[in-house]
Amino acid sequence: MENTPTYDVILAGGGGAGLSLAYHLLNSDWKDRSILIIDQEQKEKNDRTWCFWETKPGPFESIVHQQWQRMYFHGTGFSQLMDLQPYSYKMIRSQDFYRYVNQAIRAHENVTVVQAQIQELRERADNIEVVTDQQNYHGQWVFSSLRDSDETDQVKDKQYLLQHFKGWEIRTKQPFFNPQQATLMDFRIAQHGDCRFMYVLPTDEQTALVEYTIFSGELLDQDTYTQELNRYLPKYLGLKRADYEVLHEEFGVIPMTDMEYPRQQGERIIRIGTAGGATKASTGYTFQRIQRDSAELVQQLITTGRPERLPLNGRKRFHLFDSVLLNVMGRGLYPGRESFTHIFRKNPTARVLRFLDEDTHLGEDLAIMNSVPKLPFIKGTWYALTT
Ligand SMILES: Cc1cc2nc3c(=O)[nH]c(=O)nc-3n(C[C@H](O)[C@H](O)[C@H](O)COP(=O)(O)OP(=O)(O)OC[C@H]3O[C@@H](n4cnc5c(N)ncnc54)[C@H](O)[C@@H]3O)c2cc1C
Repeated sequence: MENTPTYDVILAGGGGAGLSLAYHLLNSDWKDRSILIIDQEQKEKNDRTWCFWETKPGPFESIVHQQWQRMYFHGTGFSQLMDLQPYSYKMIRSQDFYRYVNQAIRAHENVTVVQAQIQELRERADNIEVVTDQQNYHGQWVFSSLRDSDETDQVKDKQYLLQHFKGWEIRTKQPFFNPQQATLMDFRIAQHGDCRFMYVLPTDEQTALVEYTIFSGELLDQDTYTQELNRYLPKYLGLKRADYEVLHEEFGVIPMTDMEYPRQQGERIIRIGTAGGATKASTGYTFQRIQRDSAELVQQLITTGRPERLPLNGRKRFHLFDSVLLNVMGRGLYPGRESFTHIFRKNPTARVLRFLDEDTHLGEDLAIMNSVPKLPFIKGTWYALTT
């Protein structure tokens, strides 16, 4: 295989994690290395909307579509308009993200983008062979965001919930929304024994993304998501069907699991994104963790030349907290709606966001733990530690 093209870095999968890592590499001392990005799709569609929070402008500030400093939380017998400061809750549309990163890529001749389906990653003596349906490539380092097809077989007795959601971007005929105020979680809807909520993200006075989200073990049939959206809009927003049109529909599934995703797959294959454990198990938020991980990986490459023995995403105690909450929800020990209501009612919003970001100190963690009822969470802790 003398003619097999060889690269310093191959990104197997060029979605959220692959393109983020590419972007971080292109803004580092590794910007002149040969980089190959392989994805089976042409990444240009608006196939997801990424939301996250941060205190400062991030690397993708120029493509933030909208941001909010005030958001509603509606729980059980409790509603509040929360002040998020010092955080802003930000929204990036994937089409803008793909376009922005692809522009940066096109400005670098050392980066090649290939549309192909990857069939195998083969470890060789001194590099990795990436086998695709088109041709093979060699890479010194492969960063893979490809999920295992047998992922759920690896769960064993860990929790594996799904965060599944359908969202509509709607446009009202008349000005209706306050684009400065969004709804992070609205739990006033029927729970059906799961953890279900709506969120509403207005981007101008006439446009908003309204999304029906469920944490549970099974997906629903598509009509059920639609019915719930149709019920929510008139009942809680006062919008009749004739008042708005649906511009765009989004459907997604994110794993919420306390199983350990392997971080390395052999010596030279590093897993990134959801496949590498970047998804926060108790919330599904991934985008910011991908950015942190990308920055750390690039730093490792620059300082040591080897991105190995990286710390797992998240510190151990936060992994335990995630696992406890998943056990509490997954085993039906206490309703998710009630847990979130207690947490948001009894803590400053910034503390909750910091906790979910894994940036709190132990005293703040204890305050959060004190907000929820003891017995179900002690049981959840027992399961988290013993299964
Ligand atoms: C609809 C949706 C909305 C989300 N919203 C948020 C949010 O608001 N906030 C947040 O923090 N997280 C969110 N997430 C979770 C997470 O941020 C995204 O899933 C993110 O895209 C994860 O990045 P990734 O690179 O791991 O996976 P992906 O972005 O899915 O990238 C994986 C890539 O690998 C490619 N691929 C797979 N198999 C092969 C193969 N065999 N050969 C070649 N290419 C292959 C795919 O085409 C894909 O482009 C959302 C997820 C979804 C699905």
